Amino acid sequence: HPQWYIRCIMYLVAFLHTKHRVTFRGAGLILVCLGFIFSCLMGNFSDAVALPRTLKTVFSRFDINDHFTVHPICFQCHHVFEPDIDPDTFCSDCEEEVFGARASENIDSEPDGAGDGPRLGKRRPNLVSPIQLLSTGLQDFFKRPGMVSAVNCWRSRTQVEGELNCMQDGRVWNEMKDKDGNSFFHGPHADEEIRLGVSFSLDCCSLHNRYRSENLIFSGGTGQKEPTAEQLQHYLKIIVDDLIMLYEDGIVVNTPEFPNGIIVRVESYVLADHR
Ligand SMILES: [Zn+2]
Repeated sequence: HPQWYIRCIMYLVAFLHTKHRVTFRGAGLILVCLGFIFSCLMGNFSDAVALPRTLKTVFSRFDINDHFTVHPICFQCHHVFEPDIDPDTFCSDCEEEVFGARASENIDSEPDGAGDGPRLGKRRPNLVSPIQLLSTGLQDFFKRPGMVSAVNCWRSRTQVEGELNCMQDGRVWNEMKDKDGNSFFHGPHADEEIRLGVSFSLDCCSLHNRYRSENLIFSGGTGQKEPTAEQLQHYLKIIVDDLIMLYEDGIVVNTPEFPNGIIVRVESYVLADHR
């Protein structure tokens, strides 16, 4: 935003929301009131320079939106469905309806008088879950300049004979095969693509910037209650299916260094790192 004082207010409401849990509605009220005061004092701003009216717009201007996809979830068994399923879908596992009843909306007060009674609104899922698959998260990860060279820097390091200093010195990294039976990280096509070793850390220490928040990809949430072991399998399935696809086929990402796209394949590890 061109005006510094408007930027200050935008930072303020974003901070109040994230740090002090001011709701979207509360932050919106602050923005609308301040916008009204500014317009009284200084005349109306044009739309291009006006104070945003909602916190959602503030997040969008700062490009700090989350990148989750909201999936409908079966209320009973937590089967995860694609976001665009038909509202009449029944869960194939437990035959429960995924969506709730239609809520009635009273449209008597519509200005054009088109409505003359309650009408049925959209059916909404009984339960939803925000999920970000690794394949989606990597698309955003590689849009940042410098990430291609950052993930390839291990290729130029020198290994000290007989010493194990990092994951790349280990046996698994050097012996892991791709789906064609070639070395995953040293095979004939490994230099033409980005080959990633992704660790799922159970307990981790701080190594360089590996665990900085912007480099962590949070896969999803499972609702207000902790799911049972059986329910958790549905969340794990969608994540594991994505990992298998990333290992076998890979994805094409567009980066500042490769605007026409480059293939990324992923090898995943589980670490239990206690120090
Ligand atoms: Zn179900």
